[in-house]
Amino acid sequence: MLRTTSLGPITRLRMARRVLGRSLRTVDAYLIDGLLIDSGPPATAREVVEWCRQREVHQVVNTHHHEDHAGGNSLLRASLGLPIAAPADSLAVLRDVPRLELYRRLVWGQPKGVAAQPLDEYVVTPRHRFAVIPAPGHCPGHVCLLEEDEGWLFSGDLFIHERARYLREDEDAHQIMASLRRVLTLRPRLLMCSHAGFVEDGETAMARKIAYWEGVLEEARAFRERGYSVERIAEVVLGPEGLATRISGGRFSKKNLIASLL
Ligand SMILES: [Zn+2]
Repeated sequence: MLRTTSLGPITRLRMARRVLGRSLRTVDAYLIDGLLIDSGPPATAREVVEWCRQREVHQVVNTHHHEDHAGGNSLLRASLGLPIAAPADSLAVLRDVPRLELYRRLVWGQPKGVAAQPLDEYVVTPRHRFAVIPAPGHCPGHVCLLEEDEGWLFSGDLFIHERARYLREDEDAHQIMASLRRVLTLRPRLLMCSHAGFVEDGETAMARKIAYWEGVLEEARAFRERGYSVERIAEVVLGPEGLATRISGGRFSKKNLIASLL
């Protein structure tokens, strides 16, 4: 499933695999001035190629290597010959993609390897220039793209939600907060998030996410001092685990957020 919306010159492309008429998890890519930021999951790669064929698309950049952000790379390269750039730390895993866990293959599909070019300090398009801002924590090498004159921040998976309660087991919550704080100093006006879509007043939204996690950490510490286990703290502070935790076998959970914060 593809769905598009626009804000000024920026087009958001929302993608999801559909099963029995229902969309599984969604992810957004963005098209601005011929630059496609992220390429979506393998499951929608064919549709994305057809979508790009009808538009001016000249280059692809990945904010990070995850399959819902880079899974369209290989078909875009093979079908349209588009150049693909990605963070230097992610090139090896983009080229030799490991076999993903079952839940990830079900939700997004298994990507094929592709040779990408390392991102430079800036990505340049005919009308804009985007600074490549390192923002690790969600995964090593994760970057955001900032159009400094416009205050547009393409934030990949740095933001996601201002009250994010789930974390992957390989994410580092403190590194994410450090990245959010660093990006905040750049005063972004409009966020283009890969899961929340367009977020107006991005600066305030990111500050609220930091404050929310700081509050969660404070509560978690208090419960830990009373001898609560990490599982129990997660349940008391964030509520019971949801479907995502069960489907992922615990690889994506509230417990992971508490464990990483503590
Ligand atoms: Zn990701």
